[in-house]
Amino acid sequence: MILVTGGAGYIGSHVVKDLADRGYSVIVIDNLSTGHLKAVDQRAIFIHGDVRDSKNLDNIFSSFPIEAVMHFAANCLVGESVRSPLKYYQNNVETSLTLIQKMIDFHINKFIFSSTCATYGVPNCTFIHETLPANPINPYGKSKLFVESILQDVSKSDPFHSVSLRYFNAAGCNEKGVLGEDHKPETHLIPNVLNHLQGKTKCIEVFGNDYDTPDGTCIRDYIHVSDISLAHILALESLLKCSNHSLTEVFNVGNTRGFSVLEIIHKCEEVTGLKATIKISPRRQGDPPHLVASSKKIQEFLGWMPRFSIEEMIQTAWNWKYKNPDGY
Ligand code: UDP
Repeated sequence: MILVTGGAGYIGSHVVKDLADRGYSVIVIDNLSTGHLKAVDQRAIFIHGDVRDSKNLDNIFSSFPIEAVMHFAANCLVGESVRSPLKYYQNNVETSLTLIQKMIDFHINKFIFSSTCATYGVPNCTFIHETLPANPINPYGKSKLFVESILQDVSKSDPFHSVSLRYFNAAGCNEKGVLGEDHKPETHLIPNVLNHLQGKTKCIEVFGNDYDTPDGTCIRDYIHVSDISLAHILALESLLKCSNHSLTEVFNVGNTRGFSVLEIIHKCEEVTGLKATIKISPRRQGDPPHLVASSKKIQEFLGWMPRFSIEEMIQTAWNWKYKNPDGY
């Protein structure tokens, strides 16, 4: 049985469905602070609770034969983390500490951690490799890097196997249209553009057009949520084969292709056939100009390959939004 924290969230819910499709038994714990009960696959057991509540974890670990844990429950907004750093250290670091401690107490030692490309900071390179020194510039990235460091230390003191997946920019929705992206408030670029194109906002704000990039706007590497989900499944399969020695791995999960904010807006216009009204606004605090992955390592170690194009990411996101204009 696989325990998924934050399994009602955007990425977690996609992974829960894919795990269930592959025949895994899944138990989800989520406090529904940002997730949606409707997003949790019916085949999973759902526990409404907080991961920081160690009694909840005691109940789960003593009642179910958990083999591995996937930990998504976290806050993940760069701008918010700059404004509310303590929220990020509490919800991202403290929660992980409680969970890892409980796993050790219950002799559960296979852990997949949702990390982020925000751990890299402002890299001065075209493709970011995992060997690049991490130097995060916002509390979100720092909170995730702290947990990665904790995992490394734990692997030296206990037989503990972990894979940290450093996601680049998750985008798109389940291809069959059964799951979507529904954040309230929405802050991410692609859903914001699509919301605007649905007439929910007067314009799409571009946060800064004076970066040192070809069109002056930030470049990101967008990766389909189902590709991120596949990376979790492959990581899980490799961890389930681990026996004695501790394994601590970090993998980028990105498409190795960068798109600027303006390029993304134009792609959304192409896919939907609608025209956006663009407003240039000041830079958003904590934003690095250029983040694009090398995904060589995960391709070599886990045989993972991204399958979806940027058009497919936008199309699947649009399909879901079109059918579910008010979200879940
Ligand atoms: N962005 C923007 N307008 C928006 C939302 C995002 O210009 O309404 C920019 C943001 O400043 C960043 C990029 O789009 O440069 C991706 O931001 P997002 O919040 O989607 O993901 P992040 O890179 O912060 O994880």
